Amino acid sequence: MRSKIVAGNWKMNNNLEETEALLTELAAKLPDTDAEVMVAPAFVNLADAIRTLDGSAIQVVAQNMHWADNGAYTGEISADMLQSIPVNTVILGHSERRAYFGETDELLAKKVATAIRKKMRVIFCFGEELQERKAGTHFKVVKKQLTEALFTLEAKAWDQLVLAYEPVWAIGTGETASPEQAQEMHAFIRDTISGAYQQDVADKVTILYGGSVKPNNAAEIFSKPDVDGGLIGGASLDAEDFIAIIKAI
Ligand code: PEP
Repeated sequence: MRSKIVAGNWKMNNNLEETEALLTELAAKLPDTDAEVMVAPAFVNLADAIRTLDGSAIQVVAQNMHWADNGAYTGEISADMLQSIPVNTVILGHSERRAYFGETDELLAKKVATAIRKKMRVIFCFGEELQERKAGTHFKVVKKQLTEALFTLEAKAWDQLVLAYEPVWAIGTGETASPEQAQEMHAFIRDTISGAYQQDVADKVTILYGGSVKPNNAAEIFSKPDVDGGLIGGASLDAEDFIAIIKAI
């Protein structure tokens, strides 16, 4: 059975006080669920988030990390630093990192390899842009992203991987891929992985959908057989909305 996951990516939102307030509310209202629930606050608040969530099932994850073990990379955060808090899961490849910070699949392959070597879990984000969807090249684009960033990994590394298909045109726009479009792409992703590895690797990997998931559309998206949960941006900043999305899985 694949894990189901609902993860909230807070991006560059919430100071220390706001982080504590939102986490305290989430912990108090967390419903009984068989899904793993994760939140990704800003780096500076990760250690405090872990203390605030002590005793809660909510997991704290990072939004990014560097590929090097340590060294002269001013402003960067390493896997060891995260694990010492301890944070053992990291989001890599988010479309905002790709668009604003020039992260390529070549660079992401290095980050993923480091995280895997450090025994971390990775939520790897990828997805096509609007013009690629319009041109009908979305399957080709997604296959290329997976191939370049992930397909040099050994099969056993896939136990540490979670995928998050996030069509860029649906992130923060209010525009959602239809449940059928999400299912079609998730099935394609599984097929592509089974071609590169084995069917059991494809069957086991959790694939999240991300892009304007809200309380009013989550249940329908999560009902699709190859959609194993969601990576939630805007709606994860509101406790009521995030809880409603967790209840929808
Ligand atoms: C995201 O940033 O990963 C995301 C899915 O954002 P939103 O839910 O706001 O579209």
